[in-house]
Amino acid sequence: MKARTKFEKQVATSNVRLTAVAPKVFEWGVRNLITHPAFRVPSGRTTCGDCGHKFIHKGKGKYVVCPKCGHELEIKDTFKRSHKEGTYFAILDTIDGLQVERVFLLSAYFKKGNSISVGHNEVCRLWLNAKGQTALTSKVRTLGCYRDCFNWGSTIELRNMTEVHHIIANTWHYPKYKAIPKLKRNGMKGTLPDCHPFDLMKGLLNDARIETLMKARNQKAVKYFIDNPRMLDKCWNTHKIATRHGYKIEDYSLWCDLITLLEKCGRDTRSPKYICPTNLRAEHDFWLDKSTADEERRRKAEQLLKAKKKEEDFFKNKSCFFGIVIKDNDIEISVLDSIEAYKAEGEAMHHCVFKCEYYDKENSVILSAHDKNGNRIETIEFSLTEYKVVQSRGVCNKNTEYHDRIVNLVNANAHRFIKARATA
Ligand SMILES: [Zn+2]
Repeated sequence: MKARTKFEKQVATSNVRLTAVAPKVFEWGVRNLITHPAFRVPSGRTTCGDCGHKFIHKGKGKYVVCPKCGHELEIKDTFKRSHKEGTYFAILDTIDGLQVERVFLLSAYFKKGNSISVGHNEVCRLWLNAKGQTALTSKVRTLGCYRDCFNWGSTIELRNMTEVHHIIANTWHYPKYKAIPKLKRNGMKGTLPDCHPFDLMKGLLNDARIETLMKARNQKAVKYFIDNPRMLDKCWNTHKIATRHGYKIEDYSLWCDLITLLEKCGRDTRSPKYICPTNLRAEHDFWLDKSTADEERRRKAEQLLKAKKKEEDFFKNKSCFFGIVIKDNDIEISVLDSIEAYKAEGEAMHHCVFKCEYYDKENSVILSAHDKNGNRIETIEFSLTEYKVVQSRGVCNKNTEYHDRIVNLVNANAHRFIKARATA
């Protein structure tokens, strides 16, 4: 990619001026970011992955300290003789008034009986100027089964920033870092919050809200809002009010969820009564339940409204059957004659006669069977093409002891439906 803008030209120039990184930086990375194994066989013979020293260790713990080199090792119960570890690792540096995040792939190879061998490869550099403009220089990506495959022989030069670069740059950085004056002025001092380093620096240059949080040393908030930028837009004003009232947020994710729920339930998200709860978890759960119930009610109302619209058709097609009552000594079966009746039947019998819109089915009519005391027994679908019962079901779609009797009784009265339709 050719440098077009003034900024890109500046990056291209500074890119080749960057120098090698001191070995102690990678030593820090290997010590702190890589898991160091101890190979152990069932007899208890253990080999230190770092120095190759052999010793006997039978403990049940996950870790052991090598008696020779003193390194903490993670025990691997295995007959394998080698192990590979790798991780991305970044350093934050400055050059020619530009800020840069240099991303390396750090790798370690452990072979039983040998000392650890380590290596590192610089993958890409993410650039920023004081105005918050960004650019990327990188090795070229190759197409492989993993998205982060790079051609290690290629040079690091100006390329288009992709999602892959952004993802691998979200990694641990060497704790000693350099920052351009504007970043320092905007609050980049001391230990940084545990979030995407490049997004943090970009946020500090482009977003006064991040600057404010950083200067207030509110690392929890910075971390959460850098990782969830949409929540920052949504909750910022509410956050300001809560802070003004001296409210301390322990769990940002839970608190922002609470604000989202309050909004959904139509509550005032400027009122300390709602946004500064003593028991955040309990308040969150309360509004979650409320919002779920509201949602359910809204859904049901919508369904009823939809059904009402279909009511006209329903009356046109089915009213000729209204009033048909079929009974014997114990059972009384009648045609459902309104959408509400379908709804009541579906709710009482816990089946889908209403939800699946049986009232809208052109070629069937639905009847409800009751006992002498008026208790519902089964719901019957009677076909208007075959003039017989196609299904009859009790509570939760189960058959009852009256099932056969009901089916026979309705089928024996099929002629009444034919007649009703003929005279309609
Ligand atoms: Zn050792």
